[in-house]
Amino acid sequence: MLMAMMITEECNNCGVCVEECPNHAVFQGDPVYVIDADNCTECVGYFDEPQCVSLCPADCVVPNPARVESRDELLAKMQRLCSNAQ
Ligand code: SF4
Repeated sequence: MLMAMMITEECNNCGVCVEECPNHAVFQGDPVYVIDADNCTECVGYFDEPQCVSLCPADCVVPNPARVESRDELLAKMQRLCSNAQ
């Protein structure tokens, strides 16, 4: 089961995830960084694994249980985001 990702309160605000997100879904929030679930595809369409999860030194990026989506739904989201960006 796939889901958009979310950042927990363990975030140390290092910001390493921001540049690595292919969908520009990560932004600085208060008090910690936030992932816009509408823009997160769990990196489906770009990478085999979520880049923010792989790179986070605080291990604070986890699946968002409020945003369960199938791989096909995530792929469609990725394609929609790509077409919106053009
Ligand atoms: Fe961005 Fe991928 Fe992390 Fe989602 S899982 S926020 S698309 S880097």
